[in-house]
Amino acid sequence: MSKLIEVKNLKKHFKVGRNLYLKAVDDVSFYINKGETLGLVGESGCGKTTCGRTILNLYDPTGGEVLYHGRNIYDFARNEMKSYRKDCQIIFQDPYSSLNPRMTVETIIAEGLRVHNMMNTKDARSKVHELLEMVGLNREHANRFPHEFSGGQRQRIGIARSLAVDPKFIVCDEPISALDVSIQAQIVNLLIKLQSELDLTYLFIAHDLSMVKHISDRVGVMYLGSIVEIAKCDELYSKPQHPYTKALLSAVPIPDPEVEENRKRIMLQGDVPSPINVPKGCKFSGRCTIAKDKCFEEVPVLREVDKDHFVSCFIDQ
Ligand code: ADP
Ligand code: MG
Repeated sequence: MSKLIEVKNLKKHFKVGRNLYLKAVDDVSFYINKGETLGLVGESGCGKTTCGRTILNLYDPTGGEVLYHGRNIYDFARNEMKSYRKDCQIIFQDPYSSLNPRMTVETIIAEGLRVHNMMNTKDARSKVHELLEMVGLNREHANRFPHEFSGGQRQRIGIARSLAVDPKFIVCDEPISALDVSIQAQIVNLLIKLQSELDLTYLFIAHDLSMVKHISDRVGVMYLGSIVEIAKCDELYSKPQHPYTKALLSAVPIPDPEVEENRKRIMLQGDVPSPINVPKGCKFSGRCTIAKDKCFEEVPVLREVDKDHFVSCFIDQ
């Protein structure tokens, strides 16, 4: 398996005052193999969107590297960056605000084709029809406007738009969070189907661990701009190591009522600290139920505790 994307020590700090920086992404490293889905999970505000957007070069990084096929994207020449921008697409969280209400579905989906000068109007039209069918809509929908569709259908339009330019890698930024629970699985299944049909690689962002399990090969857990644990999907769910991962997992409902009833829930105490004023030592220490003295003083590094299973925590050390 080859790495399609490799993120090395990526940092994105926003200047929010004269000498004040908000560390939205703070030294994050991970890789995504070709054809794989990496889930990225963490509470709202922990830096998931910023991380995804920095990888897509929609934000300038404060530090670090993003390698695409082994080459640092920040060293790309203009034409290489243009082709990277085409290869790497995004699906947004909110299918209501992300589609221009004044544009027809056809114009929305064909936008990338136009920007990248990929085909003439006639070919673009048949491509749009093909894409609509691929995402479970039909060609009659092409001349309609976004408000005529349900949330799930709108997200299908957003997916078709991202697929128009034949991307290789897609950042799916909470593509199901704004949808009814009953629709969520349909969209996840569509993304899984498209991945195998089109040989796509995904970064799938979510704020909880429930749906991520069905789509991810590996999952990274983010807290206050850092990855605290990353592992193969099965391993993360069956043998979570970091107290934060355990707390997130205990919030995921289990369909079996008997298991559900006997389960111990770990309640996260307190609020997420501000990323402008991060705690000394382990960022999670203030909310951790098993923190020891060291945790308030030293910053734990991500270390490999099992094959391909990385955790940043001093417990058991
Ligand atoms: P998530 O997607 O995990 O909810 P975000 O990446 O959107 O988190 O945000 C991470 C942190 O960065 C938050 O504290 C957010 O307020 C802050 N942030 C995001 N975008 C900006 C920006 N353009 N300017 C300043 N702060 C920002
Ligand atoms: Mg977000």
